[in-house]
Amino acid sequence: MAEVLRKEAFIIPEGMVYLDGNSLGPMPRSVPDRVARTMTDEWAQMLIKGWNKAGWMALPEEVGAMVGRTIGAPEGSVVMGDTLSIKVFQALASAVKMRPDRRVILSDTGNFPSDLYMAEGLVGLLGQGYALRTVAPEDVAGAMTDDVAVVMLTEVDYRTGRMHDMQAITKAAQDNGSVMIWDLAHSAGAIPVDILGSNAEFAVGCTYKYFNGGPGAPAFIYVRPDLADAVEPALSGWLGHRQPFDFDLNYTPGNGIERMRVGTPPILQMAALEAAMEIYADVDMHDLRAASIALQEQFIEEIERDVPQLTLASPRDSKNRGSQVSWRFEHGYAAMQALIARDVIGDFRAPDIMRFGFTPLYLDRNDVSRAVKVIADVMHNDLWDREEYKTRARVT
Ligand SMILES: *Cc1c(COP(=O)(O)O)cnc(C)c1O
Repeated sequence: MAEVLRKEAFIIPEGMVYLDGNSLGPMPRSVPDRVARTMTDEWAQMLIKGWNKAGWMALPEEVGAMVGRTIGAPEGSVVMGDTLSIKVFQALASAVKMRPDRRVILSDTGNFPSDLYMAEGLVGLLGQGYALRTVAPEDVAGAMTDDVAVVMLTEVDYRTGRMHDMQAITKAAQDNGSVMIWDLAHSAGAIPVDILGSNAEFAVGCTYKYFNGGPGAPAFIYVRPDLADAVEPALSGWLGHRQPFDFDLNYTPGNGIERMRVGTPPILQMAALEAAMEIYADVDMHDLRAASIALQEQFIEEIERDVPQLTLASPRDSKNRGSQVSWRFEHGYAAMQALIARDVIGDFRAPDIMRFGFTPLYLDRNDVSRAVKVIADVMHNDLWDREEYKTRARVT
């Protein structure tokens, strides 16, 4: 197994154990220079010429290819842009059009709310009896009735880290005649994904989590290569047009995955993300997965030994778990604030989940042990039991 630890590639404040790369990855050391160069050498000097001269217009496909290599997507099947919520809507809108005689979008109650909200918005817009149906995660396979047009799921549960069986569910959906959309928000950059091998029609994901692209980094969308020239983009923006600079009055979808572009790409964010993605160029996702599991197992073992107040909320079997470990604790919000005040950074998810993400690119065994010591101190001495830790901030 090749070493995946590359702490020197990231800037992490001295003394901090960062267990929140699953919400916002830390900044890669290469990013500030890259963004500065894009600003000073490109934007400042080239101005409008940058779109051609600096290759800005090609970045959504070029960076898409870098993302694609980590999820088993062939060249030309992934494009960057917008935010994940928008990409969810875009995939859903294209998918329902592929099954015009069916009216149901099936998802699960473990999905991230924004995905469900976007589906709600779409069915409201479509009218005509379209509906979103959500069932418990373990009931998805049994809920595939012949009215289901689209199955939309997030592979790794954002709260508990529980994983769906991507291959089995995709097969069940397609055997049922439904179109499959996978949200890879907590998979991409964290676990090996074989999206082409899964045969799913669509996948979407974000890049500010495990890929460390920075706050507001663009999302990605994958369309199975055999469908890319057939899908109808509902968000038919000019940069998804075949010839945007013909300024045609009517929309003609672009070639292949390009049609999933919408409007002007965020070039500064794209530059930051491109620099961040270079870290993945020589990382084997199976090695990364093995290292992540080793850290998670160490964490579970040490917490269960030293901090019995916490109850494991994640699947115990590592093969059913993504790259995070979550615990239930009644005063989880305050406890997490107390940890954050002591530079052990995780996050809280209502109602009672303390969530810790593991990224072996910049975390090692010592970091895990250090975090467990602080958690034990906070829990054994009730250090969380202070007013200042109980007031909810806008972002938890
Ligand atoms: C993080 C996350 C999102 C966030 O969507 P944005 O539009 O990027 O804010 C959406 N869905 C899932 C499953 C997520 O984990």
